[in-house]
This record gives sequence, C-alpha cells and structure tokens, in this order.
Amino acid sequence: MAGLVEGLAEATEDSSSFSGGYSYCFVDGDPPNKYICHICTLPARDPHQVTCCYNIYCSVCLQTLKLLKVKGQNGFICPTCRQPLEGNYFKDGRVDREIRCLEVYCNNRMEKGCPWVGTVANIESHLTVCPFDVVKCSNGCGAELKRSNLKTHLTSRCSQRIVKCQYCQSSGMHIIVTSKHHLDTCTHYPVKCANKDCSLELPRIEMLSHIKACAKTLVSCEYSSIGCDKKIMRENLEKHNEESMKDHLLMAVKEVGLLRADVKMLKEKTILIDSFRGAFASMASIESVHNLATRVISFQGQSKSIQAQVTNLQAKVTRDQEERTIMQRTVQSIRGQTANLKLVQTQHCKAIESLTANVSAQQIKNKVHKHVFKLSGFTDKRDSKKAWYSPTFYTSPGGYMMALRVDVSGDASNESFIGCYVCLMAGEYDHALEWPFSGVATIELLNQLEDKNHKTYELVFDNALPQPCRERVYGKTNTLGWGFSEFIAHSELAISSTSFQYLCDDKLYFRVTVNVTSKTKPWLEETDN
Ligand SMILES: [Zn+2]
Ligand SMILES: [Zn+2]
Ligand SMILES: [Zn+2]
Ligand SMILES: [Zn+2]
Ligand SMILES: [Zn+2]
Ligand SMILES: [Zn+2]
Ligand SMILES: [Zn+2]
Repeated sequence: MAGLVEGLAEATEDSSSFSGGYSYCFVDGDPPNKYICHICTLPARDPHQVTCCYNIYCSVCLQTLKLLKVKGQNGFICPTCRQPLEGNYFKDGRVDREIRCLEVYCNNRMEKGCPWVGTVANIESHLTVCPFDVVKCSNGCGAELKRSNLKTHLTSRCSQRIVKCQYCQSSGMHIIVTSKHHLDTCTHYPVKCANKDCSLELPRIEMLSHIKACAKTLVSCEYSSIGCDKKIMRENLEKHNEESMKDHLLMAVKEVGLLRADVKMLKEKTILIDSFRGAFASMASIESVHNLATRVISFQGQSKSIQAQVTNLQAKVTRDQEERTIMQRTVQSIRGQTANLKLVQTQHCKAIESLTANVSAQQIKNKVHKHVFKLSGFTDKRDSKKAWYSPTFYTSPGGYMMALRVDVSGDASNESFIGCYVCLMAGEYDHALEWPFSGVATIELLNQLEDKNHKTYELVFDNALPQPCRERVYGKTNTLGWGFSEFIAHSELAISSTSFQYLCDDKLYFRVTVNVTSKTKPWLEETDN
C-alpha cells in the first residue's frame, strides 16, 4: 500500500499537498477498519463507497487514482478487487457523519501540551487558532513563537515593531529608533555642553545656540581687529575690556598711525600719477588721459577728505577715551575707503601701462624718418657733370647720418640717366650704433603735380650688399654710396603729362625714407654737450 501512496503523491506532483484521510490522534485509539480508506490507510475524508467490494475510499484518493489512469500507468481499477471503477462509486454520507463525530486530540498535545479535545469536524478550525501552535512573527523579524505569545511579542518585544523615539518623537522600527546611529543624530537626544567648565545638558538641537552664548566659551577680544590677540571666556569679556583699556587705546593709536602712513603713500602715488598725466597729455589717447585726469582729481579730493578725517579722529582719541568704540568704527570705515583707493590706484596704474604702450608704438613709428630735398638749377648741374649731395640727415634722433647723392649727368658709361645713391656719413652717434648698418632706404623722385605716381626705388642694406657701403665712415664726405646709376632717364624727365611731372621750374624734389633695423640708441641724443 505504501508504494501506491508514493505513486499517488507523485501523480499530484507535490507530496505535501496530498491530503487523503484524517491523520489525527484519536481519543479512543485507532478507528474501526470500516472507516479506513484502502488507498491512504487513514480514516477516510469525504468517504466514497465502491460498488465492487463495498470498500471506503477518500474522494481525493479516488480522484488521484483516476489521474494515474489517464497518465496510462495503471487502469482506473479498484485497488482491492481490481474491478473497473468508472461510475461504480458513490458518496457515503452516513460513514462521513460517523467519522466526523470521532473524538481527537489537538496535534499540539504531545510536544506543546495543548489540552484541547474535540471532534474530527472541529479540529481543523481549532488548529487555525490553537494557542500552542508555533507561528512566525507577522512583522517578519524571524521569531517563531506560540500563537498565544504573538500579541505580546508584537506590542512589546518584536525588534521590528513601530515605536516613537522617546526624545524626538519620530516613529520607526524599534531596532532603528533605539540604535546608536539614531541616538547619535537624534535632534532631541540630551547632550552635554562641550565647554568643560559648563555642566549644562540640553537636547542636541538647542546645544548649538547655547554654545554661541555659553558663558564658558572662549572668544576673541572684541579689539582683535586692531591687534589684541587675547582669548577670554565670554563671561570675563567685560572685565578684560576694563583691565586692558589702556592697551586697547595704544593699539588704536598705532592703527591710526599706520593708516596715516597709508594715506601719505597714496598721496605720493597721486603726485606721481599727476606727473605721468603731464607727460602723456600730448599723446594721441587724449580721451583716456582725460579720464585719468578726472580720476586723479577725484582721487586727490578723496585723499584730502580722508586726511581731514584722520586728523579729526586722532584729536578725538586724545580728547575723550570713552569715544573709543565710535572711533573704532570710523577706523574700519577708513580701512574700507583705503582699500577702495588702492583699487582706484590699481586702475590708474593700468591706464599708465596702456599709455606707455602707446608711447612705445609711437616710438616704433618714429623709427621711420622721411626727408625731402630740393635740387634746384637742374640744367646747370647737368652741364657741370658734378655729383650733388643733399644736406646730411639723421635716420632718427640718435641714429645714422646720411646724405643723398645725385649724379645729375649720370656716369661715364651712361650720361643720359640720373643716378641716385644713399651715402652713410660720419655722424655724432656713430660710436654708439651697430655696424654695419642694416635697413631699407627708399628714394623717391617726387611728382610735383599731385602726391602720387612718384618715381620710387627701394634700397635694401643687408648682408647681400658690399660691406664698404654699410660701414662706419670717418672722413668728411663719403662718396661711396648704394643706389641706382639709371634712376631715371633724362628723356623721361622731359615728358610732360597731366598726371605727373618730375622736373618743374628747373627743380627736382627727392624724398628719402629710412627704416633702420640695426640697433640705434635714441636716448643718447639727449646729451646736452
Ligand atoms: Zn484515502
Ligand atoms: Zn473493489
Ligand atoms: Zn491545540
Ligand atoms: Zn517579531
Ligand atoms: Zn530620536
Ligand atoms: Zn555651556
Ligand atoms: Zn583685548
């Protein structure tokens, strides 16, 4: 029979859900055989009688047997007499009544001592409330306990019961609300004042404001901004002020002295800025100089007013000691103003820098110098066949001395051209210049009708040139130059057009422009002797 039960359990695919007859402890011992299911060998539950051999089976046991037949393992036949069962059984109401009236003990009697005694009909509802039954805590804390103890557990023992924090009154699981973590952060947990001389205990949330006012907290002297570095218990502050009145006053006087020095320094800087303003007044950036001037004037005004305030303040210090608090406030305001003045000064410095940059740019421009020369009596000069030299000129202040040489009647090989040359001359600053000379000289024969269509040649003085043309000269007139022997043909001079004419009234005009790239020392030109 055991084999069959196992087969049935397997057929229902889950042995725990297989419930055939009643498996209880009967008060009157084992029930009579007529109540026993011949499949599960227990008193039959919902008993059915078969018509073949009149045996009793639980309805579940019969259903399971039928399932096995469907699965093709055995036929749906009576396990006792092996006759076909389909349609050959019926519910046996009388036996059912008798079985349900049998007396049984509670399942929890033996191990847990439940004294309950009842009928088969009642035991299942008893088991759902049996106080001796072991149940799991419904909060999920993991505890297993007698059902009778569950209520007490849930209300006063379960670690996961919901309670209120006794300090901050917030709700949460008991295990969390009473944890160290919560108490360490609980806003209302009582804590002691951190000052060791203070014994006050307060809710954590109130302690912060207490510390700010606690008489035992160490605080800085209220004159720390003018140099008193004492730390005093708050309750002793007043006493310290009285005892140190003289020291505090000395500090205040010293502070005023420092401020006066600051103001003096600022005034000196103002004068400096003023002189810069004068120096740059003629520069192109008139607008920025104007702004600068306006600022300087307002700056001077402020300086004067501060000077007046400081003098005033010092008078007050010596006059009346009780005014020390007012004085300190004034000192602070002056410090603010001084900081502002320093800011203004920084702006001035920036303006000066930009002006200086302009000056440098101007100086770079000045490096290119133009000189215009008039050659009159052209016809005579052509006939005399002598070289003509322009007046000497400096390429820039403190620069190279040069002259333009014009061979009006050309040279021996070609007399029908004018030759033009730039010649270095012995100049005053030659000793301070870089040699050989480098740069670009431009010779222009000027159109006398309008300022364009000039006859222009560029002479590059660099390493490609014969060295003697670029070297320093010591004699009076240097005839050696660099230029063009065929600068312009005499025939071209004779051409007269509406847009250009070079020879006019027997005069020629030449313009020489020199852009120096070798080093000059313009500041040395300022020598007075
Ligand atoms: Zn059964
Ligand atoms: Zn049978
Ligand atoms: Zn019980
Ligand atoms: Zn629990
Ligand atoms: Zn709390
Ligand atoms: Zn305190
Ligand atoms: Zn002090």
